[in-house]
Amino acid sequence: MAMSNSTLFKSECFINGNWMSAKNGATIDVHNPFNRELIGTVPDMGISECREAIEAAHVAFKEWRDYTAGERASILKQWHQLQLDHVDELARLLTTEQGKPLAEAKGEIRYGASFVEWFAEEARRTYGDVIPGHGRDKRITVIKQPVGVLGAITPWNFPNAMITRKVAPALAAGCTVVIKPSELTPLSALALAELADQAGFPKGVLNIITTNDAPAIGNEFTSNRLVKKISFTGSTRVGKLLLRQAADSVKRISLELGGNAPFIVFDDADIDKAVDGAIASKFRNAGQTCVCSNRLFAQEGIYDEFLNRFSEKAKGLTMGSGLENGVHIGPLIEDKALSFVKEVVADAQQGGARIVTGGKVSADNDLIYEPTIIANPTTSMKVFNEEIFGPVAPVFKFKTEEEVISLANDTNYGLASYFYGRDYARIWRVAEALEYGMVGINTGMLSTAVAPFGGVKESGIGREGSKYGIEDFLNIKYMCWGGVE
Ligand code: ADP
Repeated sequence: MAMSNSTLFKSECFINGNWMSAKNGATIDVHNPFNRELIGTVPDMGISECREAIEAAHVAFKEWRDYTAGERASILKQWHQLQLDHVDELARLLTTEQGKPLAEAKGEIRYGASFVEWFAEEARRTYGDVIPGHGRDKRITVIKQPVGVLGAITPWNFPNAMITRKVAPALAAGCTVVIKPSELTPLSALALAELADQAGFPKGVLNIITTNDAPAIGNEFTSNRLVKKISFTGSTRVGKLLLRQAADSVKRISLELGGNAPFIVFDDADIDKAVDGAIASKFRNAGQTCVCSNRLFAQEGIYDEFLNRFSEKAKGLTMGSGLENGVHIGPLIEDKALSFVKEVVADAQQGGARIVTGGKVSADNDLIYEPTIIANPTTSMKVFNEEIFGPVAPVFKFKTEEEVISLANDTNYGLASYFYGRDYARIWRVAEALEYGMVGINTGMLSTAVAPFGGVKESGIGREGSKYGIEDFLNIKYMCWGGVE
């Protein structure tokens, strides 16, 4: 079936329960990054449509917050089921606009849907408290209430899951949402809106606007007083900008920003498992995730062995169209991303590091970069200091635990970190010493709906997923009852 025949293939935005074009008719072209073909168009909306969506969400909030948690949960479960029923269609659409291998896209759809299921369940558990009073005639109760309209801004690297991870807890809590997906991958977002429509959310509860003018929408979200909460996943640069903008109206804000993940292999590690973990954490989505390992550190006793086995495996990765079976590495999202990857590799080469494998653009596709491993890099290089966001793995050599902890923490980022080793006392010490929101111990994959995802330092504010994830969308209200004689 041609994709454009699918009911999930949308060319309009979803506002107040209606599918709409931009008022001035403007559109954005959406391209397949693998062959650069035009897939479709979506509306290029502006402030006026954004305000309309915010107002619809504001009106819908008054109704939605009064639904029982069970009523909200049953619609969320319906949405979850529809996502699972359409895994293949959603995954094809995702791969076509984003480029990642189809197996990863299917994994993302299931992962994305798991947040909807999890928060449908958590909807019923936003318990308050009864606190022993501070006077004989006093009683103290605490309730949790939804914050109100959410403005969500999401990136292109997980066009589906970064939406459900924010929107599911918000809707479960009783908030309503306006979503602005990345202009590079809006089709997956609109497909989710179509399924939300089918699931039966009341009109105005979930709205999506697409635009080429992200700064204008970001500005409207942060300044509009009907919006009570911002949730953003994307670059640290834009996250800082939104935080500054949100200050004027003291809006609650959650930020999931960049990372510079260390991946540490100690002498006593199971090297085969460490290599598999490094491959999974580095090359997933061609290195374009904020939890991808960015700097690998191998202890001197196993440095050569780790480097060799890791390089052998990396050489075996197949590049190509994400829609073809057996492909591991798809294209980067756009030319700008490719230029940056080239720049960091050139910088490492100029500084004297050795390219063990890869180091160039694929001969077959001008947006695919070869899986690349760099030996003997130094801390002054871009590969140490910048988030690479591509399939490039610098492997640093270290001597002691103390040294590697200091290297690992020598960054303003603090999202994911990983290490492999067996000594249990050291495992505790290292896990505690790493200044990161998440630590993978003997694993290269740590994302799941049941655990709190998020960072410290300049990697963000707030947590997504788990029992903590819904708290970001709730206000605590304390009631002091006097005169209870
Ligand atoms: P990435 O490096 O992942 O592309 P961005 O931060 O540029 O990260 O993009 C993430 C999301 O932020 C996208 O939806 C993009 O459109 C949006 N965005 C980019 N600039 C701004 C801005 N000034 N204000 C609000 N949103 C923005």
